[in-house]
Amino acid sequence: MPKEFKYLYGPVPSRRLGWSLGVDIVPLKVCTLDCIYCQLGRTPKTTVERSEYVSIDSVLAELTERMEAGLEADYITIAGSGEPTLNSQLGKLLDAIKKITDIPLTVLTNGTLFFREDVRADCLKADVVLPSLDAGDEETFRRINRPHADISIEKLVSGLSAFRKEFSGLIWLEVFLVAGLNTNTQQIAALKALIEQIAPDKIHLNTAVRPTAEPDVAAATHEKLVSIAAELGERCEVIADFSGGLPLVAHATATAEDVFSMLKRRPCSLADISAGLSIPANLTVKHLTTLQQQGLIESYHKSRTVFFRAR
Ligand code: SF4
Repeated sequence: MPKEFKYLYGPVPSRRLGWSLGVDIVPLKVCTLDCIYCQLGRTPKTTVERSEYVSIDSVLAELTERMEAGLEADYITIAGSGEPTLNSQLGKLLDAIKKITDIPLTVLTNGTLFFREDVRADCLKADVVLPSLDAGDEETFRRINRPHADISIEKLVSGLSAFRKEFSGLIWLEVFLVAGLNTNTQQIAALKALIEQIAPDKIHLNTAVRPTAEPDVAAATHEKLVSIAAELGERCEVIADFSGGLPLVAHATATAEDVFSMLKRRPCSLADISAGLSIPANLTVKHLTTLQQQGLIESYHKSRTVFFRAR
């Protein structure tokens, strides 16, 4: 049985990050926001207080053990069952991880604390920062993200804009769209203006395809997301997984044999296979697992990416 870690999960396949090892540095559910679409449920009490909510030495001890056992991942992602920048030792953690691996580091954040210089200084140590912005105006922000009283959309955007000027790494901004709440033409125009201030390298559109904190959160349709993506420009792509964890009906015919014949031609990453056969990542993982159990394929690590090839 693989060892169970308290602060680590994965590596798990992710549409945004390939294979990513998650590092959880705040407990459930310490957050500055109480988003209506949160998959972790309601935030009992929002907070803006930074503290060592989880012992960074304990996290590092687990991570070191995991690295020694052999870790193949595209990214190590600092996240949490809430907002990871609330952990006051984030910068120390990033410095320490860099000493034990060259796997790129990402921070998955709601971006609300970037108005603070210490939070920006910590996040400068990452390779990729993935913040969120779901609204173009304060009223919509309050309806969707239900922030702590000290947080405003102006602070969120000015913090991320300041960070953009200081940070030479990549910023991939996630926008979560809720049908009827932030999808009309005026709201998208307002959102676009704020995104231009932040100047992210990529914009990822998501919607409520998973269970949410509030039951009445409506997903935007795929067509709607595609039209909003076109509005937001070429850096924007839809990352919402409408398959609901199941194969997309239109592509459900791709089998483990299809994956195997692809791998007989050339080594491929998970993303290569999913894109090549037009199947969702979770179906690709299922087929890869079957083929590995049958001893037909093997995985190896190259240029920080996990590849699969036929034996
Ligand atoms: S910021 Fe993330 S963790 Fe916090 S409430 Fe929103 S979705 Fe949940």
